[in-house]
Amino acid sequence: MKEKLVMIGNGMAGMRTIEELLKIAPDMYDITVFGDEPYGNYNRILLSPVLAGDKTIDEIMLNTIEWYEENNIKLHAGKRVSEINRISRTVTAEDGTTEEYDRLLIATGSRPFIIPVPGHDKEGVIAFRDIKDVDTMLDATRNYQHATVIGGGLLGLEAANGMMQHGMKVTVVHLCDTLMERQMDTVSGKMLKNSLEEKGMDFRMEAQTAEISGNGRVTGVKFADGSSIDTDLVVMAVGIRPNMELAQKSGLHCDRGVVVNDTMQTYDPRIYSVGECVQHRGNTYGLVAPLFEMAKVCANHLAQMGIGLYEGSVTSTKLKVTGIDLFSAGDFTGDETTEEMVMQDATSGLYKKLVLKDNRLIGAVLYGDSKEGAWYFQLMRSGQDISDIRDKLLFGESHLGDSGHGGDHIALMADDAEVCGCNGVCKGDIVKAITTEGLFSLDEVRAHTKASA
Ligand SMILES: Cc1cc2nc3c(=O)[nH]c(=O)nc-3n(C[C@H](O)[C@H](O)[C@H](O)COP(=O)(O)OP(=O)(O)OC[C@H]3O[C@@H](n4cnc5c(N)ncnc54)[C@H](O)[C@@H]3O)c2cc1C
Repeated sequence: MKEKLVMIGNGMAGMRTIEELLKIAPDMYDITVFGDEPYGNYNRILLSPVLAGDKTIDEIMLNTIEWYEENNIKLHAGKRVSEINRISRTVTAEDGTTEEYDRLLIATGSRPFIIPVPGHDKEGVIAFRDIKDVDTMLDATRNYQHATVIGGGLLGLEAANGMMQHGMKVTVVHLCDTLMERQMDTVSGKMLKNSLEEKGMDFRMEAQTAEISGNGRVTGVKFADGSSIDTDLVVMAVGIRPNMELAQKSGLHCDRGVVVNDTMQTYDPRIYSVGECVQHRGNTYGLVAPLFEMAKVCANHLAQMGIGLYEGSVTSTKLKVTGIDLFSAGDFTGDETTEEMVMQDATSGLYKKLVLKDNRLIGAVLYGDSKEGAWYFQLMRSGQDISDIRDKLLFGESHLGDSGHGGDHIALMADDAEVCGCNGVCKGDIVKAITTEGLFSLDEVRAHTKASA
């Protein structure tokens, strides 16, 4: 008889683990998945293009309900697990559905943080996390005029841009004086703000939200300095918190997330965890690339292959707003032990900052032209000594000429160099798919690897 694998949380990290597992041990487990959202698994990253009207929900589905049937996976869609019993090795959903497990995978993601100011629970105050939130925003674009987004980070700006595409007047409220301050330095943050203002976005910088006003439904936001604005919708995009309460309730060791080791195992050896809900070596993550790395390692151990360790990730970010080209990775602030290389051309809207430590690239911010982002990111991940290309580093890979690093740079790319960030597909995956499957067109590569999907 097959062992039973149950997964809680039908999202990006968990389903990537299941897909990796099916690749290496397709017949090992009877798999059951619980997801509290009433759909298959979708690409959450692409909710921003859906909101902006550039994609439809169907286009962002990664695994449809039919896919689960075809792969003999029992899916409990729309069912929220409320209890894990580690003695009887069962999980139970709110409606009473109970499943037994031999191995359990917790992949419950995270939940948006809602600032607990007076009025935060009024109608028209939402987050930006799932399809339901996108539907609420799209509905508001049809029935109202003014939206306020609290939080000038990646999610907040993508939400604001999306609603603006439908003709809404949008104000972004941000606590700091720099937008996306966790990814941008002051110079690039200012350039970003200017570009967004040119597109019509309004900003209230260094503003602290004190209260959400309205009688039933939101009608305004009041700030700590006594000023206020009128609004018909408030989207809070001020951060996320690992969704670990279920794990915590079952007695698993949790801190800021569900604590896992390098094999993605929790303190209960039968229970693994991946995704935004975990805390690994003291870190939590809010981007997909690290989660896909976790997924690969976890699948490997679930398949009892016993190799592969997850040792943490360096992350990179891009903003998905048409016409804005920015890239940020690693430690871009630096300190007294680091050096900086900076190039700035305000008229052309170009800015590049590289941070070096011991002749190695440890951080980068690119604004206006992010073509070289993947190359810089690869240099950072590989920890390559850049001494011999130092004079050309700032100008990018294409300027390396015949020094042995340039030329056919695709052939020279490492197999683990990431080609498609949203789907975590590396060069090696694509080359392997092309050579083993005899692929010829981009469509075929997309169908086999998800790269560019
Ligand atoms: C609008 C938006 C844009 C983004 N853009 C980017 C980007 O450009 N680049 C990037 O790298 N990342 C981006 N992210 C972040 C990325 O989407 C997340 O890092 C990723 O989805 C996390 O995967 P996960 O599986 O850990 O969590 P999720 O994808 O959230 O999946 C967890 C699932 O578990 C379900 N669940 C939770 N508790 C239970 C329970 N008790 N029972 C049943 N089901 C449960 C949740 O409802 C959810 O469906 C974006 C996120 C959003 C919201």
